Amino acid sequence: MSKYSLTARPRVILKKDKAKPFWYCHPWVFSGAIDKIKGNPEQGEVVEVFDHDNNFIGKGFFNSDSQIRIRLLSWNIHEKIDIDFFRDKIRRAIYLREQILWLADKSNAYRLIHGEGDGLPGLIVDRYDGFLAVQFLSAGMDLRRDILLTVLREETAAETIIERYPARYRELEGLKEIDFLVHGPEPPEKFFIRENGINFQMSLGKGQKTGFYLDQRENRLRLVQYPAHKRVLDAFCYSGAFGIYLLANQKASDVMFMDSSSFALEMLQENLKQNRLSVTSAPQKADIFKILPEMAKSGESFDMIILDPPKVAPDKASLAQGIQSLRTINATAMKMLLTGGMLVTCDCSGIISPGDFCRMLSQAAKQADRNVQMIDSMGAGPDHPVHPACPESSYLKVAICIITGP
Ligand code: SAH
Repeated sequence: MSKYSLTARPRVILKKDKAKPFWYCHPWVFSGAIDKIKGNPEQGEVVEVFDHDNNFIGKGFFNSDSQIRIRLLSWNIHEKIDIDFFRDKIRRAIYLREQILWLADKSNAYRLIHGEGDGLPGLIVDRYDGFLAVQFLSAGMDLRRDILLTVLREETAAETIIERYPARYRELEGLKEIDFLVHGPEPPEKFFIRENGINFQMSLGKGQKTGFYLDQRENRLRLVQYPAHKRVLDAFCYSGAFGIYLLANQKASDVMFMDSSSFALEMLQENLKQNRLSVTSAPQKADIFKILPEMAKSGESFDMIILDPPKVAPDKASLAQGIQSLRTINATAMKMLLTGGMLVTCDCSGIISPGDFCRMLSQAAKQADRNVQMIDSMGAGPDHPVHPACPESSYLKVAICIITGP
């Protein structure tokens, strides 16, 4: 550990007693931990971070427009943050997916780079067959987009790389709004990816996330290991992946699909057709938070209910309200399940901890007056690695519960 920096980079000095998480490689330095900044770092510039006694901690991207003022990249004073640094990290990320996880055997779509979990804070890259979908979500990554696009092309041989962001996604980092950008030849409007032997339609331009919910791959597979169910409700189904896995593996006699997006339901119809599957009731376009209580009132029941809602709490301000709406739909689903039925319930809000999620489920059970046994709990798949110092970056919680009683 050296007391002295070798460069003339801007320096950030942390407040006394605020350095501990960063010694353990937590990558997010919030504004509240900073005592002073020496020099005038530009947005996205690499700064060096020191503790209050002037011991070097690490270096990372600076952004005065973000709550996360610095995203640490390296804890080695001698390491240069240059094209070779990014190439090395990108190669390691590819090696993990290709040589350790053998993902190519399971799917031609997976997350290739998962930001902090791959040591590249603010960079998300999803591979969809021969195409890459990229998100630059930190000022530092945004500033280096040309270098990163070049390295990604060289290391993956992808010609077409698209950028796609949900509305206001980049705003949190003070970055210019971008909806959709194509680097290289135009991708086809629609094509199919293949996950665990099942075909799913993809639209790089119009779909949600960067196109498909890759993080649930292993959880869908886990679900088909359980005995078959008769009547299943796939609520918040998007293009139907959970229900389609069940149908394709003869683990459901019938699935009722529901989502509020017409585009998602159109893709679902294509997916049923492409995989030669059928259901008895037409997929329903509905606001599930509203329709589920009405269905419960009218006495509808199911053997299995899957609840995979969108992010209910994007920030601290919406935490209580988000947990409340989760509690309500989970209690409603519990009431609608036949005894011995299975509830597969998910939440993708990073701000809701696994502990909060369990508490919410136990309160929902009380509200529904049902007995709930959690038999399985999962998170995002292994192509979404988490740094142990930064559990906040693990966001997905999935619980499989058996509902009985009263
Ligand atoms: N289970 C899906 C992913 C679901 S993502 C899969 O495995 O692919 C969340 C879904 O909820 C999105 O498809 C979105 O369109 C839908 N959604 C968001 N708000 C909704 C609402 N109020 N009612 C119904 N669906 C909603």
